[in-house]
Amino acid sequence: MIDLRSDTVTKPTEAMRKAAYEAEVGDDVYGEDPSINQLEETAAEVLGKEAALFVTSGTQGNQIAILTHCRPGNEIILEAESHIFYYESGAASAFAGVQTRTLSGTRGAMIPSDVEYAIRGEDQHFPETGLICLENTHNRAGGAVIPVDNMKEIHKVAKANNVPLHIDGARLFNAAAALNLPASELAKHCDTVQVCLSKGLGAPVGSILAGNRDFIAAARKWRKRLGGGLRQAGIIANPGLIALTQMRERLAEDHENAQYLAQQLGQIKGIEIVNQVDTNIIVADVKDLKMNSLEFVEKLKAEGVLSGTFGPSYVRFVTHYDVNRSQLEHAITAIQKTADQII
Ligand SMILES: *Cc1c(COP(=O)(O)O)cnc(C)c1O
Repeated sequence: MIDLRSDTVTKPTEAMRKAAYEAEVGDDVYGEDPSINQLEETAAEVLGKEAALFVTSGTQGNQIAILTHCRPGNEIILEAESHIFYYESGAASAFAGVQTRTLSGTRGAMIPSDVEYAIRGEDQHFPETGLICLENTHNRAGGAVIPVDNMKEIHKVAKANNVPLHIDGARLFNAAAALNLPASELAKHCDTVQVCLSKGLGAPVGSILAGNRDFIAAARKWRKRLGGGLRQAGIIANPGLIALTQMRERLAEDHENAQYLAQQLGQIKGIEIVNQVDTNIIVADVKDLKMNSLEFVEKLKAEGVLSGTFGPSYVRFVTHYDVNRSQLEHAITAIQKTADQII
């Protein structure tokens, strides 16, 4: 099977497995796991923040950010198709007790003046705006890179109104690679940021939440409340450290593969690529094949290629380091064959 469903399917590398085996460990709830401490210090440095916290998943990182920044009854501003709104099982309302105010963006980017207008003023009828969230790259916008200027503008609005800004940077390193900028240059336009180690970077488990020292101290307590305080976690921190220090550079390869895949799929009759491919995500519309995305995904699976539905007629393909160029060629042939069967 060639698995193009997501970059989360990447398996840990040999080096990661070895690092897991050899990890120095201690009890991280006591702050005594040297591998975790090293990972958190390195992550803070890479992201240009004072401190960082290892969390079990991207969802946990985002939710801890909301819990730490907000109080129940607050409102958070976020893009209408953002992961926090779309794919986190309603956690923001279930745990933090906040309501969401969604703004439709262009390729995932909200308009700064819309954000400014959405921030609540003083009025007893209104909830207080507790947080603004950006997502970079933006998953449902097809891995779109949110431009630096857009982040800068929204950060300015946030600061002027005393509202914290969080970046869901599950794929921030993909954005950094696409822009050819250090991740810290992107993360400087926010108060807090979450990055995934377990997507394109290939670590088996975990994400990082970064921010200033006080924020991270409070976030650590929320992590404990959620049952995310881990003990000899160095076993998973060490592979994460390899992800962070050795795997970022190769993301460009995934982006090149995505360009190639998009270009090849675009030539197949009945398939239309609907996103501008900035990074490692391709969204194909299969409506001209006279079937829905679910049927297409099933037929393609029978040809040995896994993909995901992304709307009634949209199918998502994600490139990652576990699919090399020759497997990609096989996938293209299988997709061609699937399309040919129908027309
Ligand atoms: C994958 C993803 C997350 C959540 O990460 P998990 O580790 O799967 O919980 C959050 N935000 C975005 C944009 C993502 O793509």
